[in-house]
Amino acid sequence: MDEALFATLRAGFAGRERERFLETPDGRVWTFSDLLDRSAAYARMLQGFGLEPGDRVAVQVEKSPENLFLYLGCIRAGGVYLPLNTAYTLAELDYFLADAEPKVVVVRPGLVEEVGKRAPAATILALDEKGHGSAATAADAAAGPFEDVPRAADDLAAILYTSGTTGRSKGAMLTHRNLASNALVLKDYWRVTAADVLLHALPIYHVHGLFTATNTMLAAGGAMLFLAKFDLDEVFRLLPRATLMMGVPTFYTRMLADPRLTREAVAHMRLFVSGSAPLLAETHRAFFERTGHAILERYGMTETGMNSSNPYEGERRPGTVGFPLPGVAIRITDPETGRPLPRGEIGMIEVKGPNVFKGYWKNPEKTAAEFRPDGFFVTGDLGRFDEEGYLSIVGRGKDLVITGGLNVYPKEVEEAIDALPGVVESAVIGVPHPDFGEAVVAVVVAEKGAAITEEAVQRALAERLAAFKRPKRVLLAEELPRNAMGKVQKNVLRERWRDLFATARA
Ligand code: AMP
Repeated sequence: MDEALFATLRAGFAGRERERFLETPDGRVWTFSDLLDRSAAYARMLQGFGLEPGDRVAVQVEKSPENLFLYLGCIRAGGVYLPLNTAYTLAELDYFLADAEPKVVVVRPGLVEEVGKRAPAATILALDEKGHGSAATAADAAAGPFEDVPRAADDLAAILYTSGTTGRSKGAMLTHRNLASNALVLKDYWRVTAADVLLHALPIYHVHGLFTATNTMLAAGGAMLFLAKFDLDEVFRLLPRATLMMGVPTFYTRMLADPRLTREAVAHMRLFVSGSAPLLAETHRAFFERTGHAILERYGMTETGMNSSNPYEGERRPGTVGFPLPGVAIRITDPETGRPLPRGEIGMIEVKGPNVFKGYWKNPEKTAAEFRPDGFFVTGDLGRFDEEGYLSIVGRGKDLVITGGLNVYPKEVEEAIDALPGVVESAVIGVPHPDFGEAVVAVVVAEKGAAITEEAVQRALAERLAAFKRPKRVLLAEELPRNAMGKVQKNVLRERWRDLFATARA
């Protein structure tokens, strides 16, 4: 099999060139043939600016169909696609540009000059949210037939910087094989076909919206309704025309909070997929009660693409991320020794398979530190397999709180708190403590008008949790800080409450 990414995707829609591939909410439609033409124009344009195989193309623009064609054009030209979150500031951009040394940089029109000063060796082009700008104009001028630049399975297709909630963000090097294999596996596992229409409301600077959603749909020859962002009105307007949706948990909690979410509204839907952050079991149940759909939760990360998934047929178990995907090996080990642990025990999740990245860009030390000698990647996530082989994520390794020498898994405490009446959600963190080293602290969001107090939570937990696991303080908050992918930013909370137990310094 040809493991070059574009060849794999192209085989997925062969024979369907005249069919709809993409539609935007304003009714504009692109066929697969348009995709081939437009991505060829971008590939030729990039070559015109001197792009050689292996050169990086850094892109920080708003989501648009043109952005997607630029991605595919880059891959076809043998380039390495490097998407960047639009939220990054110029100061943050400096780091990525210096680290990745892109040949071409595509940014929002207003930033061309500034970025030009910061990356003098690169060609700087513009693309706005409507798909207009010098990048698109240059592609127009370069339109014509294009022969894909041959790439080997192990060549780089993309570099994605990790969201980096601690330390410097690192560039994960993803190969053609990594991306192609994951697209094919997901297509089969989730039974995606050319009859599917995906409601695409995710950003495309992240693995979820770019690879899990887009590559999988292309590999299946399916279509996408392409929203610039998650907008409830548009989602409810377009749902009756979709069959499939992939979202972060926040999508589902927001939909649930809206009376328009009914069985009728989703009558045409085949599947809802959730990932990128934990989906509360409560959300899973509430969604099922309201719609009859069991959300299918899966687990993945920038470095690996998707690792595990709940089954398409069979029980989709709330609070779990299902089984290892075909071809992916997952084991649970002692975080200190790396020794495999018996089923049922909590430990480090390690992954091996064709989906696992090649290493961190220009960072062989970090790469070596996160791979075991037998090739397993140490994810940094803590998890456990249950009796039937369903995997659950118990938290990030770095979230583990060690208080008075005892390990506390925040997820366990959060689940106990979330089960209390009147609680919407909670985040449990460790903060420095003069006596215990770290103290368990809970930040709790209560329902409006609920009589939740620190004392009431403490009293309720006293019956449920061992004393060492119980929070030393329970702090009430209006909401939890989250990033664009819906992940709770515990680092922000840890920073905010760092001095909660600080003793007066001399
Ligand atoms: P990212 O690299 O931004 O995709 O973040 C990957 C991380 O998100 C993983 O290492 C997990 O900590 C978390 N994650 C992804 N999917 C899930 C899930 N279904 N449940 C819990 N955590 C998840």
